[in-house]
Amino acid sequence: MINKNTISSELIANAAREFGTPLYLYDEFLILESCKNVLGMPNAFGLTVRYAMKANPNKTIMKIIADQGLHIDASSLNEVRRVSMAGISLNKIMLTTQEVPSNKDMEDLQDMIKKGLRYNICSLRQLELIADFISKNKVNLSIRIHPGVGSGESSTRDTGSPYSCFGVHLKDIEEVLDLAKSKGIIFEQVHSHIGSGGNPMKWQENIDRMLGFIEKYFPQAKSVSFGGGLKVARMPDEVSADIQALGRYARQKLEEFYKKTGRKLHMEVEPGTYIVANAGYLITKVIDKKQTDKCSFIVTNGGMEVNTRPLLYGSQHPFYIISKSGKLIVENKKELAIVGRCCESGDSQTLNDRGEIIPRLIPDPEVGDLVIIGGCGAYCSSMSPFNYNSYTQAPEVLLDTQGNLKLIKKAQTLNQMVTNEL
Ligand SMILES: *Cc1c(COP(=O)(O)O)cnc(C)c1O
Repeated sequence: MINKNTISSELIANAAREFGTPLYLYDEFLILESCKNVLGMPNAFGLTVRYAMKANPNKTIMKIIADQGLHIDASSLNEVRRVSMAGISLNKIMLTTQEVPSNKDMEDLQDMIKKGLRYNICSLRQLELIADFISKNKVNLSIRIHPGVGSGESSTRDTGSPYSCFGVHLKDIEEVLDLAKSKGIIFEQVHSHIGSGGNPMKWQENIDRMLGFIEKYFPQAKSVSFGGGLKVARMPDEVSADIQALGRYARQKLEEFYKKTGRKLHMEVEPGTYIVANAGYLITKVIDKKQTDKCSFIVTNGGMEVNTRPLLYGSQHPFYIISKSGKLIVENKKELAIVGRCCESGDSQTLNDRGEIIPRLIPDPEVGDLVIIGGCGAYCSSMSPFNYNSYTQAPEVLLDTQGNLKLIKKAQTLNQMVTNEL
């Protein structure tokens, strides 16, 4: 058994036989569990949980999550369009984007705002461009603040540091507030997102910082969003963020804020990783074995084009080896490097954060056995350079709560890959 709940090695071998490899396999039960955990986060005056859809925007996955009562955090206009196409209503969606919409995009954005989309402005320029519309239509805005301090699992995922440009920086805030005031615009919500998978202590400290900003600058705000970034342990030596402890801290601070100011702030959080990361497995097959005088390699049919996180961040994922007949192999461990099929020495699942291959002690598989990569539910299918070396995009399968394997995304075909070329 790969996890104690539903996914067994036999089931994985069956999925590989039925749908081919490489294959993403998601466990609905685990998605529901993590939704429940976050919805149960302690809070003082109400909680909205937004799923950051960029982690995994498959419509079946988004619908399962939205059915649990989560709202959606979208990172681009296309993400708003995409989740709307999945049937999720605009008044459950907030747009937090680096994009600066113009022309048709601006028309669409305004239309979506009229229909209930919440717009979280992230720069002075974004506010300048939408100010007249907001003022005329009397809708309220959310504002993303650059808190000046961030925390992420790597510097590439720290969105609060001075070398990161997300949100309205404090040095712009007076100008933003002046413009808003002159147009009668109200910031109903104040938002920050300091990074992904960072130190939970930093996440907690940011609560104090945000409440300080709200007290000082935003007398009309009714809601505060502390963003996403809740850490998930993919590896046995990692520790997940303690949702209960973070919630208790937030509750205490929000109650203190109420005593001090008379204002009851609604709370929002925006997890992506936390909801789906450990609910997804990548099933790959061993196609070759090679050796140099320094290193033994296991070559699989799914590498950086299906999980780029090791190459991007030096991320560590757990591996499970399953025999052709569906047996979990735990013996005969060796120091092995797992590599993919792309012409790229960094196409490996066993890299450190400098892009160097660091072999790992794992059971030695045979050609034809399966290598399962855990922790692949978030930022794998959604963030991979999937057509590199002209490999087609892998299909996605859901294990539903009844124990059925359901294809939720077909494999891309070679024709689809070239269809737009003239
Ligand atoms: C990416 C992102 C999130 C989710 O981050 P996770 O680390 O996946 O939880 C939340 N909010 C915003 C604004 C984001 O850009």
